[in-house]
Amino acid sequence: MSVTVDLSSKTALVMGVANARSLGWAIAEQLLAAGCRVGFSYQGERLKPELEKLTAGRDGTWIQQADATSEDDLTALFARVRDEFGHLDYLVHSIGFAPRTAMEGRFLDTTPDDWNTALNVSAYTLVSAARHAEPLLREGGSIVSLTYHASQQVVPKYNVMGVAKAALEAATRYLASELGAAGVRVNTISAGPMRTIAARSIPGFGTMYEKAAQSAPLGRNATPEEVGGLALFLLSDLGSGVTGQTVYVDAGASIMSMKVE
Ligand code: NAP
Repeated sequence: MSVTVDLSSKTALVMGVANARSLGWAIAEQLLAAGCRVGFSYQGERLKPELEKLTAGRDGTWIQQADATSEDDLTALFARVRDEFGHLDYLVHSIGFAPRTAMEGRFLDTTPDDWNTALNVSAYTLVSAARHAEPLLREGGSIVSLTYHASQQVVPKYNVMGVAKAALEAATRYLASELGAAGVRVNTISAGPMRTIAARSIPGFGTMYEKAAQSAPLGRNATPEEVGGLALFLLSDLGSGVTGQTVYVDAGASIMSMKVE
C-alpha cells in the first residue's frame, strides 16, 4: 500500500545523521520524498563530508554543525532555521550516546560522569532542542525522537542508556503536555534493533539483533524504512490526534515475554 503525503509547504530539522544507515536519514528520506524542505545538524566536522554527500542534489536541504549539548550551537542552529525557512514544522531528534565504559560493566557501577553524559546527550537535548524550536513551530507542528524498549524492560548491557531512554519517554509526555496548547505534538518512536553506528557500540548487539528477530511475531526485525514510515505518520497530519506517545516499530518483539516453538 502506498500513501501519498504532500509536504511541499513544510519544513523540517533533522538532528543526528551520521551516515546513510542512520535512523535520522531513514526519516529524512521519507520527508524529502514527500517534498519537505529539510535542514540537517551534525555533531562534529568529522561528519561534514558524509552529510554533504547525502544531501548533494537534494533541493531544499542544508547542513550545519551543532553539538546538541551546546547552548551556543543550538542558538546558532535555530537562527539558521529561521533564516532558511522562517518557521519550522517538524523537528526530528535522532541523537543518543553513552560512554562505552557505562555499557561494558555492571549497571550498579555506573559513575556520576557517565550517568550525566548519557542522560544529558540522550534525553536532555530533546528538551533543549524543543525549547529552541518553540518560537519557530507553528500550529500543526510535530516533534519526534527515537527510543528503545530497554527503557521498560532490562536489556543486558544497555545499562544507563535504558535509564536515559526512560527519561526521554517521560520528557516526551511533559513536552507534549506543555506544547499541546500551541497545536504542537510530541511523540517518540521505539525502534527495534537496527544496524547503525550507535548500535555497534552496544556490547552484544549482534546477539540482541538475532534474538529480537527470532522472538518477534513477524519473525524478523523492523527496518529503517519502517521507522521512516512511522515518523512520516507521526510528523504529518496523518498523526494529528497522536501526542505524548511512545509508539513501537519493532515487528512486535516487545509484546513477547518468550516464544515457545
Ligand atoms: P547513529 O547513526 O549513530 O546516529 C546517532 C547520532 O547521534 C550520530 O549522528 C551522533 O553523532 C549523534 N550524536 C551523539 N551525540 C551528539 C551530540 N552531543 N550532539 C549532536 N549529535 C550527537 O545511530 P542511530 O541508531 O541512527 O541512532 C539514532 C537514534 O535512534 C538514537 O537515539 C538511538 O538511541 C535510537 N535508536 C537506535 C536503535 C538501533 O538499534 N540502532 C534502536 C532504537 C533507538 P556522532 O556520530 O558524531 O557521535
